[in-house]
Amino acid sequence: MAQEKVEGLGIATVYRTIRTLLEEAWLAPVDLPGEASRYEVSGKEHHHHFHCRACGKVFEVFGCLGGYTNLVPEGFQLESHEVILYGRCRECGGLSRN
Ligand SMILES: [Zn+2]
Ligand SMILES: [Zn+2]
Repeated sequence: MAQEKVEGLGIATVYRTIRTLLEEAWLAPVDLPGEASRYEVSGKEHHHHFHCRACGKVFEVFGCLGGYTNLVPEGFQLESHEVILYGRCRECGGLSRN
């Protein structure tokens, strides 16, 4: 998308910039199983992602059910969790609009 705005912008420059922003913790990786890494601005409140299986877009889902500590075997210490919702987004006919 940036290539449409910046003439002559090479993909190497894009990746180099992403790497720098990751090092500066301005960007955070969003790693989904079997997918190339995506990135988002870091420091957002706790959230999860919805992955549309039809168009492949990933959406933020705010709110968390929590309570994962209850699932952890005795003697284990939970440090973090990832929740990924899969389905179809509105554009891809998830549910009718009206
Ligand atoms: Zn979709
Ligand atoms: Zn959560």
